[in-house]
Amino acid sequence: MSIKDIHESVLQGSVSVTERVRQALVAIKENKHLNAFTQIYAEEALQQAESLDQKITGKQKVGKLAGIIFAIKDNINIKNHRTTCASKILNNFVAPFDATVIERLKAQDAIFIGKTNMDEFAMGSSSENSFYGPVKNPVDSERVAGGSSGGSAVAVAIGACDAALGSETGGSIRQPASFTGLLGLKPTYGRVSRYGLVAYASSLDQIGPFAKTPEDLAYILQVIAGLDPKDSTSADEPVPDYPALIDKPIKGMKIGLPQEYFAEGLDPEIKQSVLSLADQLKAAGAEVQTVSLPMTKYAIAAYYIIATAEASSNLARYDGVRYGYRAAHAEDLNEMYQNTRSEGFGEEVKRRILLGTYVLSAGYYDAYYKKAMQVRRLIQNEMMDALKEFDALITPTTPTTAFKLGEKIEDPLTMYLMDIYTVTANLAGICALNVPAGQHSNGLPFGLQIMSGAFKEEILFRLARQIMQLK
Ligand code: GLN
Repeated sequence: MSIKDIHESVLQGSVSVTERVRQALVAIKENKHLNAFTQIYAEEALQQAESLDQKITGKQKVGKLAGIIFAIKDNINIKNHRTTCASKILNNFVAPFDATVIERLKAQDAIFIGKTNMDEFAMGSSSENSFYGPVKNPVDSERVAGGSSGGSAVAVAIGACDAALGSETGGSIRQPASFTGLLGLKPTYGRVSRYGLVAYASSLDQIGPFAKTPEDLAYILQVIAGLDPKDSTSADEPVPDYPALIDKPIKGMKIGLPQEYFAEGLDPEIKQSVLSLADQLKAAGAEVQTVSLPMTKYAIAAYYIIATAEASSNLARYDGVRYGYRAAHAEDLNEMYQNTRSEGFGEEVKRRILLGTYVLSAGYYDAYYKKAMQVRRLIQNEMMDALKEFDALITPTTPTTAFKLGEKIEDPLTMYLMDIYTVTANLAGICALNVPAGQHSNGLPFGLQIMSGAFKEEILFRLARQIMQLK
């Protein structure tokens, strides 16, 4: 059932919200070993559900998400609950306010079942860099769920919720969606308010939903998108009626297949499936052509310089004074900072702070940070040009299916290469989503990525819907 159908059944009284929450809690319990959650709000969710059921029986007005259960990545603030970012340094931090996305979901009566596990501060591609231990893939628990929003993906995949929110800086929604067989959307930069999302790399970060159908993504985006006076980077662009637009035929749509995304390093089965789906879109009336995006090869390098530079600055605030953890022993102020950060941050976060500080340092700023920013502009221009010619670009989301736990954790560079197809959309600020593309002969799911121009999410939903029908 789609979110809309669930909501309608709840309104008609054929489904009880309390019963739905109970079932979600059972799913969480049965899948405890996957480590998808950092916090579970069982009692509170049940209370909310009971009060919603009463309202519905009493024919009182309820919001358009009444009956719908969400899981929220643990870097998004829910007032009076902990926001840990899966880090020791924020383990005890209680959010004093709601993120704007949370406010908007609450206003429509969504229920939050809990906070989801992730890579510490959203840094990673596997959800192994967590203070609470790694998230595991529901299809094969010896494999990763993808990251950094791995817990949110798993929560949806196991039926612990109807949808979840994650965050993206370089692929953290699309990649775990691909590894777990779900849909995941990275909205256009500025489409969704970031107020109340813990900052990783502010010029790239965006909140987005995970769901089981494109219709559900459209339904959720419509609730959470739009201008927010509390986030100066949120855009003053009208929010279209996404659910109403999703049925529009794709006939005549121009789709590009960037050849650089089908080159060396891509699993042949994934390649085959994505190309075959593109062929089927052609048969369904789309115009499909190959295109070349030669700047693609610089995306990972530019991304990891810009992201770490911004992270090193954003994470300076965790000093033992303002938030969360403080080291127990220190002789003076400097030592307190040092001990707090040494004890509070995990290895990957420290690696990124060091790298980011290095590329911003006086001697290297021009050679690294400035250069990366120039390359980012070129990548952006190339993307914008392609998206003038094409309505959308279709690529694989990930070069492989989910890898084994521990397989890449000792080798950060190989891990960074997992983001090869996803980071460009963040660098260019455009929208992109993952749609399930099939099952590999190894039994694992994988996805197809659709990218479109800024504020063209509607095109992503229409194409994703078509693809879901083709399969
Ligand atoms: N894997 C990328 C990184 O580690 C992207 C993470 C993200 O999108 N939050 O930076």
